[in-house]
Amino acid sequence: MRYVSTRGRAPALDFAAVTLAGMASDGGLYVPEAWPTFSHGEIVELRGLPYAELAARVMQPFVGDSLTPERLLELSTQAYGRFAHAAVTPLTQLDQRHWLLELFHGPTLAFKDVALQLLGLLFEEFLARDDSRLTVVGATSGDTGSAAIDALAGRERVEIFMLHPAGRVSDVQRVQMTTVRAPNVHNIAVEGASFDDCQAMVKRLFADETMTARHRIGAVNSINWARLMAQVVYYFAAALQLGGPEKKVAFSVPTGNFGDVFAGYVAAKMGLPIERLVVATNVNDILHRALSEGDYSAGAVTPTAAPSMDIQVSSNFERLLFELGGRDGAALAAQMVGFETSKAMRLTNAQLAGAGELFTSVRADAADMAGAMRWAWEHCGCEAIDPHTAIGLHAARVLEWPGGVPVVTLATAHPAKFREAVERATGFRPALPARVGDLFGREERCATLPNDYESVRAHILAAATPL
Ligand SMILES: *Cc1c(COP(=O)(O)O)cnc(C)c1O
Repeated sequence: MRYVSTRGRAPALDFAAVTLAGMASDGGLYVPEAWPTFSHGEIVELRGLPYAELAARVMQPFVGDSLTPERLLELSTQAYGRFAHAAVTPLTQLDQRHWLLELFHGPTLAFKDVALQLLGLLFEEFLARDDSRLTVVGATSGDTGSAAIDALAGRERVEIFMLHPAGRVSDVQRVQMTTVRAPNVHNIAVEGASFDDCQAMVKRLFADETMTARHRIGAVNSINWARLMAQVVYYFAAALQLGGPEKKVAFSVPTGNFGDVFAGYVAAKMGLPIERLVVATNVNDILHRALSEGDYSAGAVTPTAAPSMDIQVSSNFERLLFELGGRDGAALAAQMVGFETSKAMRLTNAQLAGAGELFTSVRADAADMAGAMRWAWEHCGCEAIDPHTAIGLHAARVLEWPGGVPVVTLATAHPAKFREAVERATGFRPALPARVGDLFGREERCATLPNDYESVRAHILAAATPL
């Protein structure tokens, strides 16, 4: 399997190279040259497999020759063995129609673990092959940082620099990042910054020739294809449980960077019958405006109780636009460069109509979110859900569905990760699971830097071990 850039000018690479490269050298994102597909019969055969085996089977066509099927299964078994639930991503029933897909049973309590536990192992595998080292730079609105740090802490060939907007992540998210003591972990809090500011700095670091001359820079954000690939698996897992592929299933996805919901699109491309993918946003609603009116224009970010969705520039949307525009890299490069200059663009009619075939979007405000949390708590056997999940559930519940279609809301974080917001809505304060230990009271390690590219760059150049 080869991968091509959405902007059409970077060289095509195999899976191992794409995993280490993160972003393409032309500023684009890597996508498979062609979508692998499963027949109806092949999907039926996946039913009942343990999660790690299902994962290896769904991912194998994307991995191609980069790993043998046996090795991929070993890595998958190791990654998902760290989850606290034997089903890895279990379903919980809310009512006759609605289900939650619990993606938070990994070490850091958010769905990011599903991909990052595997990505950490893939980095180690491919770097050992090249006898090489990787300097990972990432931006986080909270959950990617803690999941990436857990997955990479103590690994020999990798160093990680993680930027987060100071004061805009939850207290649990912060201490999960800053109390990790491994010497290869470097946290940077950027003062007065939004997630988008942090992400823009990371993109600049990838293109900075001094950085790339001294370091092989790697990505853990969902611009890294391997992350999306790992997330495709749980769409299959859920659909197979709920009657797929004979029955269509709908998914509602709390969305920020458009990574998780794009993985659902990939599952559909591979042949999984999906009724609809709901893109649920909070008041930072660029994706809702884009999908409902074609207006992709970034405003200022409003901080909310669902910080992982406080995003105005959704990197992975570029992957969808590439598909919908007939995979024309040159045209998309022009469209994206235009967006990067003016922070606004219009979707073409073809893009808007194409997206509408599978995607529906819903915007939820703070009251909608609290209402969904209270509904799950009061009507579904005291089910506590986190603010991100609540936005997804709100969207799932306000839409009209054809009879019999099960609607699965992706439960992207454990409620204890956002316990203040859960308590405000329901009066119940969820406890952290015992397995995460006593996070508070440990010493925190984090550099605080101004919202200025040169300062961040100088800090990383001074601290990172050169190649
Ligand atoms: C990252 C995250 C999201 C958004 O996922 P994207 O792939 O960026 O769209 C939603 N909820 C939680 C809890 C997250 O950590």
